[in-house]
Amino acid sequence: MSTAERRATVLVIGAGQAGLSAGYHLKRRGFASALTDPAAARTFVVLDAEAGAGGAWRHRWESLRMATVNGIFDLPGFPRPPIDPAETSRAAVPRYFEDFEKATEPPILRPVNVTAVTRADADPHGDLLVESDAGRWRVRAVVNATGTWNNPVLPRYPGQETFLGRQLHTRDYVSADELAGSRVAVVGGGISAIQQLEEISRTATTYWYTRREPVFLDAEFRPEEEGRRTIERVRADVEAGNVTGSVVSYTGLIWTSYALAAKERGALARRPMFTAVEPRGVREADGSFTPLDAILWATGFKAALRHLDPLGLRNARGGITMRGTRVAAEPRVHLIGFGPSQSTVGANRAGRDAVRELAGATFAGAR
Ligand SMILES: Cc1cc2nc3c(=O)[nH]c(=O)nc-3n(C[C@H](O)[C@H](O)[C@H](O)COP(=O)(O)OP(=O)(O)OC[C@H]3O[C@@H](n4cnc5c(N)ncnc54)[C@H](O)[C@@H]3O)c2cc1C
Repeated sequence: MSTAERRATVLVIGAGQAGLSAGYHLKRRGFASALTDPAAARTFVVLDAEAGAGGAWRHRWESLRMATVNGIFDLPGFPRPPIDPAETSRAAVPRYFEDFEKATEPPILRPVNVTAVTRADADPHGDLLVESDAGRWRVRAVVNATGTWNNPVLPRYPGQETFLGRQLHTRDYVSADELAGSRVAVVGGGISAIQQLEEISRTATTYWYTRREPVFLDAEFRPEEEGRRTIERVRADVEAGNVTGSVVSYTGLIWTSYALAAKERGALARRPMFTAVEPRGVREADGSFTPLDAILWATGFKAALRHLDPLGLRNARGGITMRGTRVAAEPRVHLIGFGPSQSTVGANRAGRDAVRELAGATFAGAR
């Protein structure tokens, strides 16, 4: 591992859909590889924590098939080949990303984990320093594309640490087989919670807990129109510096085939959150006790941005005020796959938009 400081004009953190899109557009706009052409006027490099291509798709649970994902948008300029709907997304998507990387050859270093981004000095147009477990980079701008998978939300409930059964997060879930025959609490009101509840309820006794009464859309979801409206609402929130909620908190729940299957099986009989966890189960809101063998915390994810903490980007409410993909208070940092661009199509567009701005920025010219 090199300890010498290296230089690039733009450094992209993460090589999921968002980071690959940024890399694709940087190359198209004439940024050279900081690895093979470090003396070029404008260079870039991508640092990715994974051992191979695929971003977070490498880790999706085994039973999340291509038929049950919400719909994956192609990487820029690279149509997906036909994929068997029964194939696991964790195999099919990384293979497609790998083919994309072979075809477009972005300068990716992996596995490299970025640990901190700091300002080199007080000059607001000066360099940023990117610290990683493979050394330091001195750069003019950072495009952060680190997704959410590495930042699972794990709520705290009294007595949680005393539970004698198994506790797992969506991140740890593999398939319903491992929970067959047991009594399982599924906590959470999002898409993953319902998908996993549906699967687990086929072979286990499940109890579904959510903080709020889940709201299912009565009418059919019109992805074009309602998707656009949702994105605008999320965009307004991040531009106002608000902390954003889950997708479902904006859209409501959709009667997908798996939600309907869960309903038919009686698995959607929602309970209010339990008040405490005890060694052998949970204490219900009404004071009764429910014995359990496992608790699945399907409680979602938040943007994985801890390495940006030294920059102090958050406001008093904990949000980051954005202007498009750029952080309002720190124009050298772009966040993509964040807020309104937290989807495969959003990640593509955000990568393009961030690079369009960076290519036009004066600091992009000189290193
Ligand atoms: C369970 C689940 C299912 C989803 N299904 C869909 C779907 O069907 N359709 C859809 O459009 N969207 C879906 N999404 C949303 C999805 O997150 C986005 O669509 C998109 O894939 C995210 O791409 P990304 O590049 O932002 O992040 P990721 O794919 O998470 O990539 C981030 C990359 O950054 C790397 N990284 C993170 N931290 C660091 C660090 N400090 N240093 C270096 N590298 C780092 C990671 O290792 C990873 O390679 C789903 C999300 C979840 C959680």
